[in-house]
Amino acid sequence: MPIRREHRFFYPIDWPQLSALIRFERARGCCEGCGRPHGRMVYHLGDGRWWDADVGRWRDGRGRRIRLVSGVDILGHARRTRVVLAAAHRDHDTANNTGANLAAFCQRCHMIHDRPEHRRRRWRTLFRRKALGDLFGGPYA
Ligand SMILES: [Zn+2]
Ligand SMILES: [Zn+2]
Repeated sequence: MPIRREHRFFYPIDWPQLSALIRFERARGCCEGCGRPHGRMVYHLGDGRWWDADVGRWRDGRGRRIRLVSGVDILGHARRTRVVLAAAHRDHDTANNTGANLAAFCQRCHMIHDRPEHRRRRWRTLFRRKALGDLFGGPYA
């Protein structure tokens, strides 16, 4: 999984092994959020619903088997994506590498998981800049 430069320091030296253990041994190669299989091309509807070819059923964004209501324009909405699992930190603390804090997530689940945290960080950064700007009459005031 890609590790952002500023985070690299916090990852344990055996991160690749740890990440592989979580993704392929514990999660058996399937996203722990929605069940999508690593490395495979899956059809999905863009809202989390995806076609589980192994069982011939649709699943929702949490991996539950669903039946599509008739009238859904499947061909008009279906897209294909290759699933790539990454190990994510549930609490966003990259120094907390206990099994309970790690999750094998596909791109979609990872993005959804990270979204509030990114928003929080962005806001904090802006706030800090603005506070400094107020203090020093800088460009963000
Ligand atoms: Zn997923
Ligand atoms: Zn993340």
